[in-house]
Amino acid sequence: MDLRESAEDRAFRDEVRTFLEDGLAGDFAVVRGRGGPGDEHALFDERLAWERHLGAHGWTCVGWPTEHGGRGLPLRQHVIYYEEYARAQGPGRLGHIGEGLLGPTLMAFGTPEQQQRFLPPIVAGDELWCQGYSEPNAGSDLANVATRAELDGDEWVVHGQKVWTSLAHWADWCFVIARTSPPADPRRKHGGLSYLLVPMRQEGIDIRPIVQVTGDSEFNEVFFDGARTAAADVVGGEGAGWKVAMGTLAFERGASTLGQQLNFRNELDAVTALARRTGVAGDPVMRQRLAAAHIALEIMRLNALRTLAGTENGTLGREAMIGKLYWATFHRGLGELAMDVLGAAALVCGDGAPGLDPSTYDPDPLQRLFLFSRSDTIYAGSNEIQRNIIGERALGLPKEPQP
Ligand SMILES: Cc1cc2nc3c(=O)[nH]c(=O)nc-3n(C[C@H](O)[C@H](O)[C@H](O)COP(=O)(O)OP(=O)(O)OC[C@H]3O[C@@H](n4cnc5c(N)ncnc54)[C@H](O)[C@@H]3O)c2cc1C
Repeated sequence: MDLRESAEDRAFRDEVRTFLEDGLAGDFAVVRGRGGPGDEHALFDERLAWERHLGAHGWTCVGWPTEHGGRGLPLRQHVIYYEEYARAQGPGRLGHIGEGLLGPTLMAFGTPEQQQRFLPPIVAGDELWCQGYSEPNAGSDLANVATRAELDGDEWVVHGQKVWTSLAHWADWCFVIARTSPPADPRRKHGGLSYLLVPMRQEGIDIRPIVQVTGDSEFNEVFFDGARTAAADVVGGEGAGWKVAMGTLAFERGASTLGQQLNFRNELDAVTALARRTGVAGDPVMRQRLAAAHIALEIMRLNALRTLAGTENGTLGREAMIGKLYWATFHRGLGELAMDVLGAAALVCGDGAPGLDPSTYDPDPLQRLFLFSRSDTIYAGSNEIQRNIIGERALGLPKEPQP
């Protein structure tokens, strides 16, 4: 396999780099390196303006086909874009759920009317989305959702509760998995679910932030009590929600994570620099762990390249299935390494000990890395679920026994 970049790809890399360097040098310098996991509370207005700046210059949704407002980039250039974005320390994207999850889902399963209504505001950064899947009794066992929706004239009326809904407090819309009819076969709960597009700013929706261990509230409980949406805003048709929901999850675990290792590289560089500054890097065990982290990141990069090389018609192959398990486990370990490099200082936060006084509880970036990365092996499918997916879908092992 030839891993060298073509002249065309190098030119594209230069174009992205120049745009981002110019953009993040002026008024937007303040958002550089801000936002994203563990720092999601930061600079909402400025990051929204950045999202719209990207949109206005054609740098959102770069992998989407041109007829839907994207640049139609091939996957390898899409990854170059992510890499350069991380290199430039571009801020955490506010529109990533619309761009990475809902948009591709609508292109695959939506009607032309739904595509025309919902895709352009995502490209422009004008409408933000959140994902309404998980409930108190439906996480890994997603088909167990109890939220229900009934048609009332030309509107769906939704009742129920979602939980862990990231960015719901900022979102204009939510894609909600709801039960619209009982399953034909009670042993197959996947039947009778629908994938609804629900506007968030209405009476009948109550959003309650959940305070996380980082001190932020990036996710929420969302209560639907008679919330309404148009009858036409069901994706894939009534009762086809499971198929559509699984399509979305494939996007969540797929292409967007391929360029991620450069974000992690920035973090590992910060950990290594700290270890050098404090002298910890002189400890043989620490040196070994820092080297192991470096090697693990290189493996991640090579696996991303291998995945790209095995890509056919933009569809990811079996290699991609190990991506989520690998990066999540690596990143959680990087958080632990960061704490060990910090040593006793890791235990102190702001002016006091963590949790004692909310007004002084402000973890520094490495503490946030540690705290937030505990969740990496849970969201978008826990490690155990990833192992089931690899076993059953990539290796063809027998299906997990059902109780
Ligand atoms: C930071 C963060 C952001 C999130 N954002 C969103 C969001 O925006 N929208 C949304 O809908 N959800 C979101 N979630 C929820 C996330 O999708 C769920 O937490 C996840 O699917 C796991 O579900 P659960 O928490 O109910 O745990 P459970 O499913 O109850 O799992 C508990 C434990 O049992 C294990 N387990 C469960 N089933 C099996 C099995 N079959 N085999 C082996 N082990 C199993 C799990 O691996 C886990 O260790 C978010 C979660 C986090 C942490």
